[in-house]
Amino acid sequence: MSPAEEAAGILALARIDCGGSLVTCSPIDGKPIGRVTVGDPDRAAARAVAAFEKWRTVPAPRRGELVRLLGEWLREFKPLLAKMVTLESGKILQESLGEVQEMIDICDFAVGLSRQLYGLTIASERPNHRMMEQWHPLGPVVVISAFNFPVAVWAWNTTLALVCGNPVIWKPSEKTPLSAECVMAGVRRVLERFGDAPDGLIQLVQGERDIGEALVDDSRIALVSATGSTAMGRLVGPRVAKRFGRVLLELGGNNATIVCPSADLELATRAILFSAAGTAGQRCTTLRRLIVHESIADDLVARLRALFAQATVGDPRQPDTLIGPLIDEAAFDAMKSILGDKVERVEAVDGGFYVRPAILEVSGQDSNVLKETFAPILYVLRYASIEQAIALNNEVPQGLSSSIFTNDLKKSELFLSAAGSDCGIANVNIGPSGAEIGGAFGGEKETGGGRESGSDSWRAYMRRQTNTINYGSDLPLAQGIRFDVAP
Ligand code: NAD
Repeated sequence: MSPAEEAAGILALARIDCGGSLVTCSPIDGKPIGRVTVGDPDRAAARAVAAFEKWRTVPAPRRGELVRLLGEWLREFKPLLAKMVTLESGKILQESLGEVQEMIDICDFAVGLSRQLYGLTIASERPNHRMMEQWHPLGPVVVISAFNFPVAVWAWNTTLALVCGNPVIWKPSEKTPLSAECVMAGVRRVLERFGDAPDGLIQLVQGERDIGEALVDDSRIALVSATGSTAMGRLVGPRVAKRFGRVLLELGGNNATIVCPSADLELATRAILFSAAGTAGQRCTTLRRLIVHESIADDLVARLRALFAQATVGDPRQPDTLIGPLIDEAAFDAMKSILGDKVERVEAVDGGFYVRPAILEVSGQDSNVLKETFAPILYVLRYASIEQAIALNNEVPQGLSSSIFTNDLKKSELFLSAAGSDCGIANVNIGPSGAEIGGAFGGEKETGGGRESGSDSWRAYMRRQTNTINYGSDLPLAQGIRFDVAP
């Protein structure tokens, strides 16, 4: 079946009737698979403001019930939604199923969180006084998402934002609008079951960059959570700051793995294949730089070349495919601009851009290595000392993910220490990609500094209020200040 026929089947099953001026193509064969209508950001913001008035006073555990129902629907719809993600983003079905599972996992997390939005009680320096912190809902949240995680990023943000008491407007990637339509079809059903959610609580606004910009500039939006390229974040960050809004940026990565002489090379090789070639090198956490000790470099590179040559490149719907297509011709051109004629195009499905992942040995990190090329190119660098390896890891402007393969405790602890990796994520004996939702996800430097998903990331979606309560009859001032009119 062609991607267009399969997409039409899923839309019909989900009773989605979309049409409009924004055409979306499948990277599998480069042909159109659907159309959606461009949304109205102004109207969406007005509806979100009205929804916030009501939703912020709904008890948080009741808000969690809405997210629980969403998780239930996702469990049912998982295979179809995953299929749509594969058709639109080109990632293999296994990875799409994993992406939807991540949505289910964050739903479960957020339901628990809805009873754990804890504040502190703080000792006051004044007699008969009590201090505390409360966390209140923040306001309308805009989620701008990228093509490579077309649905999970929405779920990371939306489930937390909802239990924290905020309405959400979603501006998905213009390259993956049908996956977003499928999610919204589920959201409509879930809202019906829930019963009394305010109108405009969860909205979808389709469109290109200009629609994103309108939402970014709208002072009614309390938080803009934007996932995408560093170039996008460089524009969005200052625009939100100009109106004193809050921003959560999840931008590009340029992730490295260090392989030490003590490493289990078998384990490392398998992890490197997944991290470097999975999602056809189009994950923010994709392994792009392999920093390997000079004593084992020849052995490791030979193993990797053999594995890279063996991995099946092709139609991401086929069960034996490990590497699907690049998202579009621009991605292929970006890869070609680095590799020139050495880029190995694979004839898999007519109209799609399929490539074999490449390994490129380099002696230092030039401007190509320092930037994120969103394609499967693995640069290999050799090192002599662990300090040199860590310096190479940290030399790039991005700071998302990193990892080390070693069985030497001193090396792994140094890598995780304050003098080690400068990234938001640092792993030991696994690759840099494939995070779980329980941890805070995000990175430093040009990756934007935002944290999403687990741990205490929920705080980004709330405003903190400090309260001091006087239950005595005197009025002592802080710091012992005296300020009285003589009687
Ligand atoms: P992109 O920057 O081209 O687009 C991302 C989203 O931003 C899209 O919805 C787009 O319409 C919107 N957008 C673009 N310019 C905008 C502007 N000026 N104002 C408002 N919205 C704007 O990214 P992409 O090609 O879809 O995705 C790939 C990039 O995303 C890579 O750099 C990857 O590393 C990054 N990414 C990061 C994370 C993370 O969590 N750090 C996760 C996924 C992807």
